[in-house]
Amino acid sequence: MNAFARRIIRWQPRHGRHGLPWQGTRDAYRIWLSEVMLQQTQVDAVTGYYRRFLARFPDVRALARAPQDEVLRLWSGLGYYARARNLHAAARELLERHGGRFPHSPADLAALPGIGRSTAAAIAVFAFGRKAAILDGNVKRVLARCFGIAGFPGDAAVQRELWALAATLVPARSLRTYTQGLMDLGAAVCRRARPRCDACPVASLCVARREGRIAELPAPRPRKAIPLRRAQWMVALHDGRVLLERRPSSGLWGGLWSFPEMHGRDAAAFGRSIGCDIAAVRRLPSLEHAFTHFRLHVLPWLCEVRRSSARAERAGRLWLDVADAARSAVPAPVRNLLTQLAARP
Ligand code: SF4
Repeated sequence: MNAFARRIIRWQPRHGRHGLPWQGTRDAYRIWLSEVMLQQTQVDAVTGYYRRFLARFPDVRALARAPQDEVLRLWSGLGYYARARNLHAAARELLERHGGRFPHSPADLAALPGIGRSTAAAIAVFAFGRKAAILDGNVKRVLARCFGIAGFPGDAAVQRELWALAATLVPARSLRTYTQGLMDLGAAVCRRARPRCDACPVASLCVARREGRIAELPAPRPRKAIPLRRAQWMVALHDGRVLLERRPSSGLWGGLWSFPEMHGRDAAAFGRSIGCDIAAVRRLPSLEHAFTHFRLHVLPWLCEVRRSSARAERAGRLWLDVADAARSAVPAPVRNLLTQLAARP
């Protein structure tokens, strides 16, 4: 066995993480759910979501049969909603094409919606003991530092090199311990900032440490100006209810509920166009939300509606009690605003 794998396997039982809610199971569904939730999200933020999600959808069948709205509602606040939509789509595909069972091979797992190569490998290793290499963001950092691999790990050529290296390092035995150890090392020891090299089991092998290159490895994403998008929301209130609109199923916040987006700044004219007679308009403080590829700047307009016609509830719009709206499938910035509105005297 190679020295890297041997050290990790020896280190994990005593120093790795134990007792996370998704550890110690061979249930592919639970492993899959935790892997998807942990993409781009910290362990602390995931734990509560994971428990609530499992309580409501204990297995693939329950998830496949649930309405998408409910899946999104339980995901609401976790961000990156495409993950939830893919999870739901994959559960349906598992039920329709695999009788509700997970395939065992990494290639078949990776053919399901939203399951990338690394997630497929993690499921195959932990649930089925298959030999496969993982390569999530944390593992890329560990390998780039330990083996001195330069370049941005998102570049195709660098990625190929990392995958090839990850595959050669996978040991023939103790696969689960090795894979868990690698995850633990990336999450808790070889952290992006201030890695704990003195507690690292592969420190004596580490190129970055030896050559003083820890701060420069892995290379950051090449800088590109992050574009700014602007939007204006009509926050329409009428008799203690708020008007929400379901967003298109794909794209930003796909399938979630949000405030109707105004075209132009004339709230009264926009209100009329969707069947709302507006008595008063007030500009609320603007808000900004950061996404991976752009920033969203929103100007919300609080509109007191005098009369509302049946047209207001067409085209995916709905009047909802303000407190109920805050508990429905809405993105975090919308929920924050609704919570403030619900707390108004
Ligand atoms: S020695 Fe430090 S930089 Fe190298 S792998 Fe370990 S924690 Fe990361």
